[in-house]
Amino acid sequence: MLAVRLQAPGKALVLENVPVPNPSGTQVLVRVAGCGVCHTDLHIARGEMPRVVLPITLGHEVSGWVDAWGPEAAASLDAARLRRGDPVLVFGGWGCGECADCRSGEEQRCAAGSSPGFQVDGGYAERMLVPDARHLVPLGAVEPVRAAPLADAGLTPYRAVRRASPWLRPGARVLIIGFGGLGQFALQYLRRVADLRVGISEVSQEKVALALAMGADAATDATAPERVADDLGGPAEVAFDFVGTDATLALCAGLLAPGGLLMIVGEGGGALRFGFAAPAAESWATTSAWGSMEELRQVVAMAAAGALTWDVEPMPLAQAAAAHARLASGQVRGRIVLVPGVN
Ligand SMILES: [Zn+2]
Ligand SMILES: [Zn+2]
Repeated sequence: MLAVRLQAPGKALVLENVPVPNPSGTQVLVRVAGCGVCHTDLHIARGEMPRVVLPITLGHEVSGWVDAWGPEAAASLDAARLRRGDPVLVFGGWGCGECADCRSGEEQRCAAGSSPGFQVDGGYAERMLVPDARHLVPLGAVEPVRAAPLADAGLTPYRAVRRASPWLRPGARVLIIGFGGLGQFALQYLRRVADLRVGISEVSQEKVALALAMGADAATDATAPERVADDLGGPAEVAFDFVGTDATLALCAGLLAPGGLLMIVGEGGGALRFGFAAPAAESWATTSAWGSMEELRQVVAMAAAGALTWDVEPMPLAQAAAAHARLASGQVRGRIVLVPGVN
């Protein structure tokens, strides 16, 4: 089968012919429908991410169909009510299944965990292995290629917004840095909360316009980010940083209200200087990483109910390198999804 492989940091992505994986134990083989291309993939390809094992098939935003399984997978498949050919979304935070985090439903936080496209082969391929059917969410009526971005771009901001809910009181000012795949979902989740003022800072002029069209109260290009706070009428009770560089973290820290929350989501490799000088008094800062299986089910349910909109740009799997170049240049409006079997 075809797979797009990264052999070493900084090396070009290579389309290779590799053996079809053979599921063992509880493993399920998924025939890939589509795999979203995430900014994190760019960081991995450049060697900017910790805890990555190479060589690897990239891709952590995967949808597909149940194709085959190992000899011990039947019980798990039954519990998930899955049969051969069923469309599924792959939950990528694969934990040990036994520690306190895993047992409390926070498997993505497991210290012994692994993820496709980070430590094991992911979805830039015609097929991929999933450790257990419990990591598959039935897609129902959501079209599989379209569904792929829900696994990360849809899920990660859902958790981040949910965790910020104590700060999202009526009248709260909310700042979003970065209006790419994740930021666009974040705005939709925030618009479901009553009486927020939401402002967006984004590099691309086209996405500034998109943010306003999608219901942001204010949006500005990143050359004058402090204007967002002016437009919102003051500093932010919550700042979501979907970029995560030194510069954007410092910007968020400077625009936070006393007691505010800085939610760091983008893995841009930056670090925050945090002390009494800044951010404002009694502020909070936390990272938010991916989401839980239950949160992914909720996102899929919202998508199935037609409550979410998102842009998908399908590209052939063989053009993964071109997809990375397009994403790096900031030309992608929504999410590129790599699709096997098309040219
Ligand atoms: Zn991602
Ligand atoms: Zn665990």
